[in-house]
Amino acid sequence: MPAYDAIVLGLGGMGSATLFHLARRGLRVLGLERFDLVHEYGSSHGLTRIIRLAYWEHPTYVALLRRSYELWRELESLAGERLLHITGSVDAGPEGGAIFEGALRSSELHGLAHEVLDGDELHRRFPGYRLPRQIRCLYQPDGGFLLPERCDVAHIEQALAHGAEVRCREPVTGWEASGGRVRVRTPRGSYEAGRLVICAGPWASKLIPELDRLAVPERQVLAWLQPSRPEHFRLGAFPVFNLEVEEGRYYGFPSFLIPGFKFGKYHHRQEAVDPDTVNREPEPADEELLRSFARRYFPDGAGATLMLKTCLFTNTPDRHFILDHHPAHPEVTVAAGFSGHGYKFCSVVGEVMADLAQEGRARHDIEFFRLRRFAAAQ
Ligand SMILES: Cc1cc2nc3c(=O)[nH]c(=O)nc-3n(C[C@H](O)[C@H](O)[C@H](O)COP(=O)(O)OP(=O)(O)OC[C@H]3O[C@@H](n4cnc5c(N)ncnc54)[C@H](O)[C@@H]3O)c2cc1C
Repeated sequence: MPAYDAIVLGLGGMGSATLFHLARRGLRVLGLERFDLVHEYGSSHGLTRIIRLAYWEHPTYVALLRRSYELWRELESLAGERLLHITGSVDAGPEGGAIFEGALRSSELHGLAHEVLDGDELHRRFPGYRLPRQIRCLYQPDGGFLLPERCDVAHIEQALAHGAEVRCREPVTGWEASGGRVRVRTPRGSYEAGRLVICAGPWASKLIPELDRLAVPERQVLAWLQPSRPEHFRLGAFPVFNLEVEEGRYYGFPSFLIPGFKFGKYHHRQEAVDPDTVNREPEPADEELLRSFARRYFPDGAGATLMLKTCLFTNTPDRHFILDHHPAHPEVTVAAGFSGHGYKFCSVVGEVMADLAQEGRARHDIEFFRLRRFAAAQ
């Protein structure tokens, strides 16, 4: 039976980054993935993911984000490939709303470059946007997007180059831990290691039943619509956005790889699902919900539908991440519950999870993300 220093369970965004960080420290690591190396059943597909510094969700993320940008740039140079495109970011909504006020607070607290515009000023600068004049818009020049499939592959390639072993189409069916050792079972055999890092995305609670109500998968749908004015939605003319309007909270991107304006609604139709049985086929009601938003706020981007994709969020009760040791087994650590905003952090989460597995503690402050915050609520 082969013995590893660490096993990483799940090779999506977080697992691929963790595998890379562990392997580059010289640890003997095995990565196990139930599907293919890149696949569309989890949370990390769909060509682009927003990265932004003016973090409206909470200012505590900004320090991790700065490190995240650094590590993405490092990965780009190791891979010899562009993985991160800077477009600027817009965080917009009503005065007093969570997105605008949160982005402003993070910008002020962390001294981030930013400008505040109204809807008309935003339209003059970026004509694809047609938001109501009274809406408050924070523009931050460092925002942009990552290429998630390419980032995952780059992390895996670098991990392999440092001696990691990777096995795909090999689902973990169970694990045990005691006395500083873990044993992981798959249909092909069992593997032993000193540490197990669980990065199972929407399947987290299937592997750690204690997460049952703390990491809840939710069905999402993304749309790419053909713009009638493609020049307003091209890279360089259209910043990524987070937008709060009366219909809900939305996010969007310039055209890239697919000639369409890409966007989605946070928590789409609020459908909690099982990742093994979820309907992955977009329905007419999914499409109409998204098209009606584009017609109202981005009318020059609301042409024919070019592509629709489903994807899964994994929500915690407070929508903040879980980065911690397993509550009963110190040999096991977990990165889960990224609540629809985790991808931009994969690079730094890889570093955090490698620290937790190797040293028992992280170089970054992760107290905010500990499991014990939920103890009172359970
Ligand atoms: C529509 C949509 C849009 C998003 N937009 C953004 C954005 O713009 N910016 C942003 O920062 N974030 C965004 N996110 C969130 C972000 O994509 C996720 O937080 C992130 O991808 C989560 O990565 P993960 O590694 O936890 O999950 P995943 O990438 O799903 O990886 C989990 C992996 O574990 C594997 N696995 C599960 N169980 C087993 C098992 N038993 N054995 C072996 N392998 C297993 C799975 O097959 C999978 O590959 C978005 C998410 C969605 C769905």
